[in-house]
Amino acid sequence: MKSEKIAFLSPDLSHLKRIISRLEIQVLIGLGLWIYAGVFFPEIVGNFSWMGELFMTLLKMFLAPLLFFAIINAVLGLGDLKKLGTLGTRTLAYYMLTTTLAIVLGMILMNIFSPGTGVHFKQFENFNSASVEGWLTFSNFIMSLFPSNMIASFVSLNAIQIISVGIILGIFIMQSASKSHIKQLKNIFDTLYNAILAFIRFVVTLTPFWVFWIVSNVVAVNGFQSMQDLLPLVVITLVALAIHSVITLPTIGIFIGHFNPWTYFQQVKEAVLLGFSTSSSSATMWVSMHVARENAKLNNEVVNFTFPIGTTVNMDGTALYQALVALFVSQFLGIDISLGQQFTIVIIVILASIGAAGIPGAGIIILTTVFLTIWLPVEAIGIILAVDRVLDMFRTAVNVWGDLLTAKVINTFYVRYLQEKNLAQKVAEKIQGKPKEV
Ligand code: ASP
Repeated sequence: MKSEKIAFLSPDLSHLKRIISRLEIQVLIGLGLWIYAGVFFPEIVGNFSWMGELFMTLLKMFLAPLLFFAIINAVLGLGDLKKLGTLGTRTLAYYMLTTTLAIVLGMILMNIFSPGTGVHFKQFENFNSASVEGWLTFSNFIMSLFPSNMIASFVSLNAIQIISVGIILGIFIMQSASKSHIKQLKNIFDTLYNAILAFIRFVVTLTPFWVFWIVSNVVAVNGFQSMQDLLPLVVITLVALAIHSVITLPTIGIFIGHFNPWTYFQQVKEAVLLGFSTSSSSATMWVSMHVARENAKLNNEVVNFTFPIGTTVNMDGTALYQALVALFVSQFLGIDISLGQQFTIVIIVILASIGAAGIPGAGIIILTTVFLTIWLPVEAIGIILAVDRVLDMFRTAVNVWGDLLTAKVINTFYVRYLQEKNLAQKVAEKIQGKPKEV
């Protein structure tokens, strides 16, 4: 009786603690607090607007090397794909196809519903949209891919130029260096890349704190209406992600991979759910590999080469989201973007999604460099941060599902390739009366 009383007086708080320790719950709590602070204490909040700037500064601090190492590592990792010949090329083509479809879908929805048009944020009232509209002509775009000085692209944080420098250098390292040198170099880049990721992870752990200052300031300046203005963006993002993962990807699975996507989903859903709850496709990768191998019985070689590359290169959810945000910001700034310029954004976003790491918030961090490239004001991203954390969970789940589906499609090709190879070997043995290497 006594112990029951004590238990009642000091209830088990471990469950509650576990819930509160989750980042998304902290962000939700932060969300409530900032709306309150922004509405009722706008002056105090205004005095601390530098906190938000500090957050953006910390995120940008290592952005250039992060992007650079990510791209070089991805290119050097392609060496593994080369071993698989056409299968490797097919994998890359498939990644590019699904990412492009995701971006185009997002852009179509944004053009139809135009959720940013007519929305006003006070910070951007004096923004001169004409200063941006002249930017991307085709020749400008091609010229803008290459820096006249590689260091300058780092200094100005020009994402596209950093990416093209990374790709060019990566390709020529593969051409000119020996295998052991490439391996050593990859280890060094991996080490630096992981150290920067660890730092960004640390900064991102404090997201609830940063979000409080950034968003309360947005509310203080623009009023609560600003949050409601973001709602259509949230809805369109969720609808687009849903269409891509429930219709586009499974259709490719049925027609190209010849399998039942629903049955496959049942086998691998654990990884998709983990991606959703951790918002990190890198952290989920090992589980994805495990379920693909054990539950869905995919070929070991296919699992080993598709997932590590897919986790870096194939980010349909992130790419879709980046395109949506770029168009949303252009719409509320009143910038008229032509179809040709949208095409350029597709290419930029494909490259930027490749540069995004599989960790929480990476998509929005890399988006700052896209904004710098296409001359949109980076500060506008502060407004989007209010809803970013929640949307991150959904886009990560789509990223993970995209990697799993790719592995399954490539598995179909690979199994067919092995069968043909076996058949050819048997035929050769019959003709020559002895085994022959094919
Ligand atoms: N969190 C995402 C991932 O890990 C990346 C992003 O922020 O979009 O896949």
